Amino acid sequence: MVTALLARLVVLLACICCVIAAGADFYKVLGVSKTAGDKEVKKAYRKLSKQYHPDKNDSEEAKVKFLEVSRAFEVISDPEKRKTYDRFGEEGVKQQEGGGGAGGGGDPFNIFRNAFGFGGAGGQQQRRGQNMLAEIEVDLKAMYEGDSLKFSVARKAVCEQCDGTGARSEKDIVTCPTCEGRGVRLVRHQLGPGIFQQMQMHCDRCAGRGKSIKHLCSTCKGHRIVETTSELNLHVDRGMPEGAEVVFEGEADESPDWVAGDVIVRVRSKKVKGGFARKESNLYWKEPISVAEALLGFKHRVKGLDGHDVVLSRTGVTQPGFVDVIHGEGMPIYHLSGHGDLYVEYQVVMPPSLTSQQREALEQAFGYRHPDKAKEHSEL
Ligand SMILES: [Zn+2]
Ligand SMILES: [Zn+2]
Repeated sequence: MVTALLARLVVLLACICCVIAAGADFYKVLGVSKTAGDKEVKKAYRKLSKQYHPDKNDSEEAKVKFLEVSRAFEVISDPEKRKTYDRFGEEGVKQQEGGGGAGGGGDPFNIFRNAFGFGGAGGQQQRRGQNMLAEIEVDLKAMYEGDSLKFSVARKAVCEQCDGTGARSEKDIVTCPTCEGRGVRLVRHQLGPGIFQQMQMHCDRCAGRGKSIKHLCSTCKGHRIVETTSELNLHVDRGMPEGAEVVFEGEADESPDWVAGDVIVRVRSKKVKGGFARKESNLYWKEPISVAEALLGFKHRVKGLDGHDVVLSRTGVTQPGFVDVIHGEGMPIYHLSGHGDLYVEYQVVMPPSLTSQQREALEQAFGYRHPDKAKEHSEL
């Protein structure tokens, strides 16, 4: 009895220890050493946060990773929190934050924005690159049901090999001998005897940067950027309006001189001949019917965009071009519940020819004969 209780106590203690030890190692999460400098920490975070950002990867695993990486960066990039973390672990940081152990941590998307300079919270305005606009056509089915699609964008990225310096190593970056690091040089023109005009010119040797490079980076050949493609993940919401714009922050061309602009994706549905057409939350469909069906009624089944059966049924006469409205069979209404309407236009298809029996039967049914034929008949 006592031993069972003891055993239970041991198990309980083991569990408590587990909870304490469960906090992830933030250095491991970022893949850096405990002595890593600010630059290295930031670089690691940038790489990982992009890899696991929901714009790139919408798996559950990536979501967890994104949160983990954000939290690790939030702590390790803050000198005060890092000091506390090194001494007392994550619990210590939580207490410092005064969050009462309730998860703690800031909005991971804000952390992401600030690390990439979109936040504008840093006081000084950073230069931003141009936005890129892309047009993407998706199946109407994707807009009906909602979907997640991968696509890739060609873009320029800061060379990772040299970290955007263009040099083989840091030792290869030297002060520009032409402008002595000023980025500009002074040119004196003699305008007359004893009169000089001094002009400031952009230094062309270092392109105004004040630094020149002895040995170029072998990956980017000194261009500081490389051509790459990035895979993005487009969320198509149910009932998304035509021409809706989805913004991928900081996914446009990168440069060491500016903060990357956004990729803006404009989403439209593909037009398919013979398929559903869309106007806002309504759908349009053309349904062929035979002459017999036009006269005597019919019951057709049409596959909806998600595969469910839509029944088209009429009992009386249907005129060619007649439009029937089926309520609630249109597109899902964006961000609301319910659906728009389905407009069905009936197209009557004539038979290519009639047999003589069909002709006779029709003459009788309608009490009608072709005028020439009627004459032939009376002459006989
Ligand atoms: Zn120079
Ligand atoms: Zn390079």
